[in-house]
Amino acid sequence: MPYTLPTLPYALNALEPVIDAKTMEIHSQKHHAAYVNNANKALEGTPFADLPAEQLITRLNDLPADKKGPLRNNAGGHVNHSMFWQIMAPPGKGGGGEPTGDLAAAINAAFGSFAAFKEQFAAAATSRFGSGWAWLCWHAGEGKLKVCSTANQDNPLMGEAIAGCGGTPILGLDVWEHAYYLHYQNRRPDYITAWWGVVNWPKVAELLTAAKAGK
Ligand code: MN
Repeated sequence: MPYTLPTLPYALNALEPVIDAKTMEIHSQKHHAAYVNNANKALEGTPFADLPAEQLITRLNDLPADKKGPLRNNAGGHVNHSMFWQIMAPPGKGGGGEPTGDLAAAINAAFGSFAAFKEQFAAAATSRFGSGWAWLCWHAGEGKLKVCSTANQDNPLMGEAIAGCGGTPILGLDVWEHAYYLHYQNRRPDYITAWWGVVNWPKVAELLTAAKAGK
């Protein structure tokens, strides 16, 4: 099988009280697993099964017409969730606080301040109608960070024409109801506010370094 469900870098209850263990269990072991299984089914018998998912989703237009939709959704879902687990950490144990170093400088350069960045990111996450993601992306051409949001399981790596925004994502927030509904019900803004308490800024800084290096 081309793709495998990654092991979480922490226990299911490690992100409490921000994200409850039941949500983490269903989200990581059911929803993410379904994206992996469905992507693997769609990849069967194609010459694309050897490509890492992050590369495959940059080439959706090269796929046979009947594979494009399923892989946009499911390889997209696999890439998005694989990143999501990595850029979170238990509150106070790697999660929360503020970015430092290069990442802090890039955020300040693009948004003016960390507070202004959080406001813009939260607005993107709140205003995404229905299911989707909010992103912080490195734009190599302009040498700056930008915030955007995508629908469903689209990822900026799919490119502007498909996803509606581009760049290399270094932070993503899942705003599908399955990500928060058990604990927050309809209160998406409360989930977004609480979520800052589990963001793994050192990991995001690593992803910025990799994005700048073109990796
Ligand atoms: Mn999700």
